Amino acid sequence: MPNNQESISNRVDTLVRPEIRGLSAYKVQDAENLIKLDAMENPYHWPQGMVEEWLTILQNVELNRYPSPEAEELKQQLRRVMGVQDHYQLVLGNGSDELIQIIAMAVAGTKRGILAVEPSFVMYQLIAQVLGIPYVGVDLTENFELDLEALLNKIEIENPAVVFLAQPNNPTGNLFGEEKVRRIIENCSGLVVLDEAYLAFTESDLLHLLDDYDNLVIMRTLSKVGLAGLRLGILIAQKEWAEQFNKVRLPYNISVLSQVSAVFALQHYDVLSQQTDLLRQHRSHLFQALTQFEQLKVWPSEANFLLVRVKQQSAAALHSQLKEHGILVKLLDGVHPLLENCLRINVSSEPENTALLSALSKLLPAK
Ligand code: PMP
Repeated sequence: MPNNQESISNRVDTLVRPEIRGLSAYKVQDAENLIKLDAMENPYHWPQGMVEEWLTILQNVELNRYPSPEAEELKQQLRRVMGVQDHYQLVLGNGSDELIQIIAMAVAGTKRGILAVEPSFVMYQLIAQVLGIPYVGVDLTENFELDLEALLNKIEIENPAVVFLAQPNNPTGNLFGEEKVRRIIENCSGLVVLDEAYLAFTESDLLHLLDDYDNLVIMRTLSKVGLAGLRLGILIAQKEWAEQFNKVRLPYNISVLSQVSAVFALQHYDVLSQQTDLLRQHRSHLFQALTQFEQLKVWPSEANFLLVRVKQQSAAALHSQLKEHGILVKLLDGVHPLLENCLRINVSSEPENTALLSALSKLLPAK
């Protein structure tokens, strides 16, 4: 025990920055025994033969050794699957969450901030706050489109070090369009991070923009294609950016288990692609089915989730009623004013989508 009288809460208050003390930790809802439609996961497993092949490979993994710091074999597979040209470099993260953190750490202390549209992925703001980096959010329109003039204006005034732009955007599911993305990059003296986490569910692939701009990097993840448990994020960047981010990255951030498992999964990428193709088909069925409920407004989506607004009743109430029916969706009411009374629902396998629709038909009258 320390010999002075200072209480632990006093110590915490003196040592931990007020911005951090004021935050709440990112909460993940308990999903035990529930159909999980809240976290954009892929619901499918691998065929049994593939699982067995993978387990055989795992048997030979040397857990006593540190992982390869550069993960070259994995990068080679990623380049092949994603069609990345040799003159670009890859930086890997423990999920793209970690890449956001690495980018933010690299610019922390420059006094220039991080800017993102809102609503968007909450980690951009959270990581900025944790690192004491000024954060600026610029609202989308009521239909979640970019207000380009307002955004360019804010970029000019704030001169941010980094602009994060998710395309398709989470939680709204829409694309902002290549022309608008180009205008943003062209009008920004800082770095633009284009977050293509949901690439597998859209035809829009903006990797080619890297050839045109030196203030752009592209971020991707294996989480949405069925490997959320592995935690593997990928940054595709010109050498000059990659070199700096690699200094910030901890040397062994991708575990041996993640490396060998991801190499194996990428060698069987056709299995993952079939699953995402199926989910894209389910998305249009689910979209159609949800629009049949008079009390739901559903936005079209280019991702593996649908954003809905509940009308004439509370989204929080519907969220808990769905839970009572064994289904967990994401409640977004209260997260941002534009998401008032909204829920985000994962597109899942046929039985899970059917379970959702059947619960909703008990809870909401049809048109
Ligand atoms: N970017 C966006 C837009 C996301 O929605 C998410 C996850 N919800 C991530 C990045 C982070 O993904 P991960 O850390 O699993 O790679």
